[in-house]
This record gives sequence, structure tokens and C-alpha cells, in this order.
Amino acid sequence: MWSLLTKGMGDPTHFPTPLERTAMRPANDALIVIDVQNDFCPGGALAVAGGDEIIGGINALMGEFQTVVLTQDWHPENHLSFADNHPGAEPFSLTEMPYGPQVLWPSHCVQGTSGAEFHPTLQTGPAQMVIRKGFRPEIDSYSAFFENDKVTPTGLDGYLRSRGVSHVTLVGLATDFCVAYSALDAARLGFDVRVRKDLCRAIDLGGSLGAARDAMLAANVVLE
Ligand SMILES: [Zn+2]
Repeated sequence: MWSLLTKGMGDPTHFPTPLERTAMRPANDALIVIDVQNDFCPGGALAVAGGDEIIGGINALMGEFQTVVLTQDWHPENHLSFADNHPGAEPFSLTEMPYGPQVLWPSHCVQGTSGAEFHPTLQTGPAQMVIRKGFRPEIDSYSAFFENDKVTPTGLDGYLRSRGVSHVTLVGLATDFCVAYSALDAARLGFDVRVRKDLCRAIDLGGSLGAARDAMLAANVVLE
């Protein structure tokens, strides 16, 4: 009977390695978790409906990736994307910046405040890298890769490439702004890009969700 026991998955004396316990994705695929912060979740200053519903699924997904990156919106108080810093302007109205149109948001994710912290239920331990963005007062940064002028880099491209990453999987908040901008920039930079729609939630401001979906599909982003 001993001859029936071969070393491998069917062998009761063989304990699975961490790689066998979960369906690990290849090392060249990174998970990028966009802006799962208190201010973007229910009760926050710029709450995305259902923003907290995706966190359990994101935590579980982290176990499949060898590279996990978190992004964190990180604004100074005088940030020019805040309606509060444009006298008379209403939140969610549009203004013109030197780099193009910009939505004026309620003040959110101010550096050092609880609103800027990651949601307390988000696992942060598995992440090797946290990219903070939007820290220059005069320019917003929806994307994890470039600020809204589309040329000022955050450094994430270099980090991922130096770790041999060629594929990225995006989840987080909000689908139609920071997730979509990140996905489009990643595609433009030559990454293979996948967005897990079920692990994102949208703001949907004036048709922004449909426009973001169309733009991502046109850029060959895979929407799952
Ligand atoms: Zn912001």
C-alpha cells in the first residue's frame, strides 16, 4: 500500500505550502487598492454609497497577491480641489484649472485627520507600498500613477516595474474617478489592467460612471 502514497497533493502526510493553500496569482500581477479611506466611506466627508461593503472582499483578495499597493488621498487643507477654497463655489461644481476641468469637492482626506485614515476594517498589513497622492495644493491627483495634469508621476510606475509587475488588478473607490483614472493611466503605461467592478463603488456624478466605463473599455481594460 505504501506504493500508493506519492508525495504531492494526494498525500495525507504532505502539508500544503502557502502557495498551494490559496490560488496565488503570478508574481507579475499586483493588486492596487484605491483610496479605501474613512472620508470615502459612509459617514465620511465625501462618502461613496456602499463604500464599506467592498472591504471584506478586498481583504480576502489580498491573500492571492504577492504585491499589494494601497493608495491614500492625502490633501493639505488649502487644496484647490476643495470648494471651500473657492469663495462662493458649490461642492460638486466644475472649475477650470491650468490642467483642465476640475470638480470642486467637499473638503476630504486632509492630511493627519481621521477622514484620511484607511477604513479601520481594511487590512493594511499585506501591503508593501502606500502611495499618497494629491499632496500638492495646486493640483489634484485622481490616478495612482499621475496627477491630474497627466504628466507629474507619483512614482508607482517605477515601483511596479522594478518589482517585475506587468499586470495590475484594481479595486476600491471610486469606480468613476480614482479607480478609472488609475486604470486608464496603467493601460497607457502598457500594463495589462483588470478592474474588479464588484469590489469598487461609484460616485456617478453627471453620467461619470458610464463615461468611465466606456473609456476603460476603449483602453482594453478588462472589467470583471
Ligand atoms: Zn481628493
